[in-house]
Amino acid sequence: MDLYFDNAATTRLSEAALKAYIDTEREFFANPSSIHREGMKAHKELERLRENMASLLSVPASSLFFTSGATESIATVFSSLLMQDPGKVIISAIEHEAVASWLRVLEAHGWKTARLKAKGGFIRKENLEAELTPDTKLVAIMAVNNVTGAIEDIKGLVETVREYEKRGRRRIFFFSDSVQALGKIPYDIAGLGIDGASFSAHKINGPRGIGMLYLRRPESFTALSSAGGQEKGKRGGTENLPAIAGFSAALSEWLSGSEDKQKRIKALNQRIRHTLEELGFQLFSPEDSSPYIISFASPLPSEVYTRMLSDKGIAVSSGSACSNNAKGEGERILLAMGFRSEAARKAVRISLSNESDEEGVDALLAAIKEIGNG
Ligand code: PLP
Repeated sequence: MDLYFDNAATTRLSEAALKAYIDTEREFFANPSSIHREGMKAHKELERLRENMASLLSVPASSLFFTSGATESIATVFSSLLMQDPGKVIISAIEHEAVASWLRVLEAHGWKTARLKAKGGFIRKENLEAELTPDTKLVAIMAVNNVTGAIEDIKGLVETVREYEKRGRRRIFFFSDSVQALGKIPYDIAGLGIDGASFSAHKINGPRGIGMLYLRRPESFTALSSAGGQEKGKRGGTENLPAIAGFSAALSEWLSGSEDKQKRIKALNQRIRHTLEELGFQLFSPEDSSPYIISFASPLPSEVYTRMLSDKGIAVSSGSACSNNAKGEGERILLAMGFRSEAARKAVRISLSNESDEEGVDALLAAIKEIGNG
């Protein structure tokens, strides 16, 4: 099997998550909305799992809603705006397409939009402040960027918005796509003061196709469609109970001893960074990025370099793998960070997981040295 360094795209399902998935599918097969005993049993299990996730994240269980992934969590928040009178939406220019694509929809419906530049990887408070207007209804800034691992100062940016709100007695929804933050950096939802956040299980050894939406004040949020009314009307559709069990098991496992795990990954990250620097490669990931992501300018076009490593049995990503369908997304993000397009076109991303180890990194670095800096 290839050595896998594309964990920001997706991670391997852990044995504990797989077991939880299978056991739950067998034991709790009924529809949690059914009112017979099997249905009630499934419903109880659903709420037990929600409680477990909530206690791991130190938030009320009533603030968590299960979705099919971060993309749907994001869509739930952005599509809800279509029921309001058009106003303004501000996002960072380095958001994932799952967020960025919504601006085109909103613009078509008469909304004003702004995309904040992120020089060197970071959104600056002054730039956010300059864009805030009385008709601003939503600000969306990701916690950790998926291409470079840059960590945004969400707490400080939320404060900027709250200050502005106070001056005009208005409410602005602060959303933070937190897919690459959960379990990968110290991350305290309640402490950040955000109104909403999105998560995906498959970035932390959980199953694909299951995610979560956090809403600080669910009572004041109305989804575009409540469909069958599940998830308290925020997300209709029969709940994917086995996948939720897999997500819960994966999160429990990932977060146990997470400080030590993050330290160990940080040490691997430093080794990789040093080697890349020794070889003279330009690093796109700022110094204090998520330890799980290292992005750099290879000596060749991304696809060529990625293929060369693949031929040596090593999987990395050219820019952002989630974006292979939306070509050039990694490049868009790097340009918004102020990097030159010539370098951005050579971007390669190495992303680690808690399974990454010394031997794997040794082999990766040997392969990178072998290809060299031609
Ligand atoms: N946001 C970020 C930052 C991501 O990295 C990803 C996936 O790569 C997503 C959103 C979308 O997640 P999903 O495909 O699980 O819905």
